[in-house]
Amino acid sequence: MKLYNLKDHSEQVSFAQAVQQGLGKGQGLFFPQDLPKFSATEIDSLLKLDFVKRSAKILSAFIGNEISGEDVERLVKNAFQFPAPVKSVEDDIGTLELFHGPTLAFKDFGGRFMAQALVQVAADKKITILTATSGDTGAAVAHAFYHLPNIRVVILYPQGKISPLQEKLFCTLGDNIHTIAIESDFDACQALVKKSFDDEELKTAIGLNSANSINISRLMAQICYYFEAFAQLTPKQREQLVISVPSGNFGDLTAGLLAKTMGLPIKRFIAATNANDTVPRYLETGKWEPHKTVATLSNAMDVSQPNNWPRIEEIYQREGWALKSLGHGAVSDEVASETVRELDKKGYLSEPHGAIAYRVLRDELQDGEYGLFLGTAHPAKFKEVVENILGKSIPLPKELAERADMTLLSHVMADDFAQLREFLMNLEW
Ligand SMILES: *Cc1c(COP(=O)(O)O)cnc(C)c1O
Repeated sequence: MKLYNLKDHSEQVSFAQAVQQGLGKGQGLFFPQDLPKFSATEIDSLLKLDFVKRSAKILSAFIGNEISGEDVERLVKNAFQFPAPVKSVEDDIGTLELFHGPTLAFKDFGGRFMAQALVQVAADKKITILTATSGDTGAAVAHAFYHLPNIRVVILYPQGKISPLQEKLFCTLGDNIHTIAIESDFDACQALVKKSFDDEELKTAIGLNSANSINISRLMAQICYYFEAFAQLTPKQREQLVISVPSGNFGDLTAGLLAKTMGLPIKRFIAATNANDTVPRYLETGKWEPHKTVATLSNAMDVSQPNNWPRIEEIYQREGWALKSLGHGAVSDEVASETVRELDKKGYLSEPHGAIAYRVLRDELQDGEYGLFLGTAHPAKFKEVVENILGKSIPLPKELAERADMTLLSHVMADDFAQLREFLMNLEW
């Protein structure tokens, strides 16, 4: 597999390099040189396979002979250990539930495949993943790398500034997962991570890697659940399928568009955002004018400069599609809350991210079309928010309820690079 840097097409890397580096020169994103295409007959036979076998074939079509088909299937099997079911919500609308993994959000799919891919391509190299989190990404990274050989994970988070449940989810694991509560805010945590990566001696000594969210292997894994959704639909529902994606950094939508480039017959996509509506405004006016990011109830989508957008522009350009064919809409907190209540009345318990995608889909869906919206998080993941909106309590899934009683294993540290450096240098394998 060959990929190029979107900021400098002359920088070309293999899959192994792209997975290990994350970003190219000048912070450029990597993008596949060849976009594999399946014929209608090939798509039909793919749809008949089970999730793991089909996903392995999709990923192998990209990766080529860099990793054997058998190995790819093993990685997928380790990564995708939970289902992605389609549930019916209304006659002409269903939802793809992507939140049955260990951290109750769709990022488990991409994160876990990235972890598997990294271990595979790094061969026997020892790697230390260092990352800062304001809550969610930390949990996904920790669970993705838990117990993997030759990898250890160090996660910094602002002490007292993430929810108690979030903290329990990734600070109770132990083994190769090390968590540090920094006595400061999230920006300070990020600054400490940046300083570590700027320290060449430290970087080499411990094999620093960021395993960041723009890693191409994440997006490739996410393509697979669009096929999985399609496989569960009836022939009639497949005819005019519209998919609505709740978007923040637009990785999920990028993956959906890549599924379409491969030949999956999706009629159109809808980009749904919260008040951080840079993309919907851009699609209306043609002007890219990010505003200051505002905090909303759907906080995993509080992004005003979505970092995957260049990849989306590249797809539209290379496929010769018109950007204006992309449906879009932005939903306020007020309407999102109203929608969570509306869905609850229909018998479907949701949370603000998924509800936003449903709202825009409901508004845009035409006669004869079938709509799917992505359920990106389990309602229990946003327990307080959902309970506030609905005025009733919602149960925790078993895995999370068990974690809530476990002891926190975090270290506590001042906002002091010298201390962090010492900690990292002395961390035993
Ligand atoms: C990350 C996230 C999103 C946004 O996904 P992007 O790929 O960044 O657009 C939506 N919902 C939830 C629950 C998330 O965690």
